[in-house]
Amino acid sequence: MTPATLNSTGVQLLDSLEAAGLTGRGGAAFPSAVKLRALTRRRTGVIVNACDGELGAVKDGWVVANHRDDLLRGATIVGRLARGQVSFAAHRGSATEERLRRAGVDTLDVPGRYVSSEESSLINFAEGGLARPMTKRPLYIQGGRDSTGRRIPPTVVLNAETVWRIAQIAEHGPEWFRRYGTAAEPGPRLASVGGYVGRPVVIETQAGVPIGDLLAAAHTRSDAEYVLINGLGGAFAPIVAITSSPWSREGLARFDARLGPGIIEVLDPRRCPLDIVGDLLSYASGESAGQCGPCMFGVPELSALWQQFVRSPSARHRRALEVNLGLLPGRGGCKFPDGVAGVARSALAVFSDHIAEHAAGRCRYAARRSS
Ligand code: SF4
Repeated sequence: MTPATLNSTGVQLLDSLEAAGLTGRGGAAFPSAVKLRALTRRRTGVIVNACDGELGAVKDGWVVANHRDDLLRGATIVGRLARGQVSFAAHRGSATEERLRRAGVDTLDVPGRYVSSEESSLINFAEGGLARPMTKRPLYIQGGRDSTGRRIPPTVVLNAETVWRIAQIAEHGPEWFRRYGTAAEPGPRLASVGGYVGRPVVIETQAGVPIGDLLAAAHTRSDAEYVLINGLGGAFAPIVAITSSPWSREGLARFDARLGPGIIEVLDPRRCPLDIVGDLLSYASGESAGQCGPCMFGVPELSALWQQFVRSPSARHRRALEVNLGLLPGRGGCKFPDGVAGVARSALAVFSDHIAEHAAGRCRYAARRSS
């Protein structure tokens, strides 16, 4: 079956998604119409990812909790295009899993590990393997064989918010969708703001709004200083610099961040940010799926070097850290080490003043704690 032989409703829907300019809301921002056109070429299984796997992510669970019927309608639409089985994925024991099961849909209970909801992990898990990234990756959408020779059927993974947006575009049309956002990043989209705030929220918003508006919606506390955008795969930014920036590709570029999965985590100003980074890296070093060198050895080494650097930010310790950072990207079976290296690099840049304080034997956050 080719797109040309799709029935007119299928052709119309793909054209609408293309006209709307919908991109995946899981983080990669790949054009959804391209992905869905590819899946019409053969019978393809569909996994709707509602795991919220990134640190601070809650929006896909929010979609399940608040827009379940639209989400299920979107899944039915995609299932018709794919002509394969549709299943959902949620972290085992989560409220989202419980809600999906109550809705009577086929649900993969994915272990609550960081890399378990990575695209190839979900496909691996759905096919009876462990919820770990596949180190040899077939083109999922065409199917193929993994590193053990196991046959992997054609499968596509779509984020829950993306599937909800597909249902909305099918109902309201591409013009409605393009009323929101910017020409480059059209459509309504969700942002989650949490951490050191008065009221953690999932906000229905759009690209281009001032980031300060998103922080205000969560009642961000007035003494907050920094945010982490998009968790372990993201970047830090000072609130004073980011507040007036638009929440968009251009607005976030100078902080080396992207819209991604739409997460803004406000850091607690009562804690030294270098310690917060240390905790993140220590968490990351425990989350490796133990399959690739940079992840098994490089990330734990990065965590140890960071601790050493924070205790003693000498030029020698910084060099050791930077050598390690240079070895992580592009070498793992998945992008996990790349993301961890990126967040550490961002910390070195954004917290440079505070690193200088540590080098001078001071930490203003330690003084705050003791006052
Ligand atoms: S880089 Fe890490 S998480 Fe990714 S496949 Fe390799 S061991 Fe697994």
